[in-house]
Amino acid sequence: MKKDDIFNVAIEDITSEGAGIGKVDGFPLFIKDAVIGDTVEAKVMKAKKNYAYARLMKVLKPSEDRVDPPCPVARQCGGCQIQAMSYEAELRFKEKKILNNLKRIGGFEGISLEPIIGMKYPYRYRNKAQFPIGRNKEGRIVAGFYAGRTHSIIENRDCLLGVEENAEILDAVISWMEECQVEPYNETDGTGLVRHCLIRKGFRTGELMVCLIVNGRKIPDSDVLVEKLMCIKGMTSINLNVNRERTNVILGKETLLLWGKPFIEDWIGEVRYQISPRSFFQVNPVQTEKLYQKALEYAGLTGEETVWDLYCGIGTISLFLARKAKQVYGVEIVPEAIEDARRNAENNGIANASFYVGKAEEVVPQMFEREGIHADVVVLDPPRKGCDETLLQTIVKMQADRIVYVSCDSATLARDLRYLCDRGYEWKKGVGVDQFGKTVHVETCVLLSKLNSTQHIEVS
Ligand code: SAH
Repeated sequence: MKKDDIFNVAIEDITSEGAGIGKVDGFPLFIKDAVIGDTVEAKVMKAKKNYAYARLMKVLKPSEDRVDPPCPVARQCGGCQIQAMSYEAELRFKEKKILNNLKRIGGFEGISLEPIIGMKYPYRYRNKAQFPIGRNKEGRIVAGFYAGRTHSIIENRDCLLGVEENAEILDAVISWMEECQVEPYNETDGTGLVRHCLIRKGFRTGELMVCLIVNGRKIPDSDVLVEKLMCIKGMTSINLNVNRERTNVILGKETLLLWGKPFIEDWIGEVRYQISPRSFFQVNPVQTEKLYQKALEYAGLTGEETVWDLYCGIGTISLFLARKAKQVYGVEIVPEAIEDARRNAENNGIANASFYVGKAEEVVPQMFEREGIHADVVVLDPPRKGCDETLLQTIVKMQADRIVYVSCDSATLARDLRYLCDRGYEWKKGVGVDQFGKTVHVETCVLLSKLNSTQHIEVS
């Protein structure tokens, strides 16, 4: 098999990254945008020893699960991977992906998941978007998204995962740039001013925030820009963020308020959050609430429990659980996030949540050894790489009754659950929650509980 060869192939499976898999005489082809059940014409782009990447040229016979992608740039844009798959098929794929990892990596046989919690509508769910701004080949100012793996901008002011106001805001920003001759930033030589436009919306409050990321501390004719933006319904906060570094990191350290309040507000459950341009906030607040509702249910709180929320971010889970627990302790590595967590606790009158800055794998063992701290329930919500083994070891020593593991990567989840289940814990239940429709990402929430003491296995 070599580059540019063309084959007709039936799609039988899908990779965890969302590419269709079809075989030619047993030799697998990975074909982006092909759906299980399709027969397609595919052209080999890159042939390796045991597999090849191929490009979908034509759908010869569409799968029952194939739909027309609603976004005109679905194939070029790096944001979505599986727009051509119906949402029902997408949820089946995500559930299977979680179960496969639990079985293959975690060795969990004979377990089942509660039915996956999908979205009502898998578009328009993101409350945050960061649009790069640049010039296209013809020299026109464009805003959009990076094509997969590259930094060329695919023009798209109305990403269907984001809110409708994004287009209106970008129209205003670009018309200001054109009228006032403001140059977009040029990555190759570091010249120009406007790099990105960050937009956030409070879904329950309707408040909008715009933050223009610029290669400087000032913009020309800022009154013209503010004039255009402030009349958009919901506009609450207009900011400049200074980023003069030659880097891919989007936001710089300094943020200057141009108009309105320096933050917007939104709710998750009964907790109100202040969101500034740099703060972390869940991008799909509707599904986040469903996920945390599951975490709360799995935690089985009666009001008497001490709960440790590890990898707590701005304390979203901590504060969600605090009203039902005796005491919640949150641990997070980013100091600014902990400042937000403390302020959010105070603003919401929550007095039984305290927060520690540091690595969970350092803070928790120290607290356990020095102060003999106890946990009835441990909640884990680590980044993709999962938990550090030192942390898991300490949790086993702490003998928490229940562990609620919230995970954005079911492969590392499976690895960590195996560790815990080899050392005195058992699988109780789990569920997938889709927070990121049309992408291959899915969240999982799992409950483990301590085996009773006769069954308990000592750790060395
Ligand atoms: N539970 C939070 C955020 C989870 S995202 C929420 O629901 O909003 C994972 C978090 O883990 C991030 O905030 C990240 O900064 C933090 N983190 C990464 N490595 C860490 C470590 N070793 N110890 C503690 N926190 C860590």
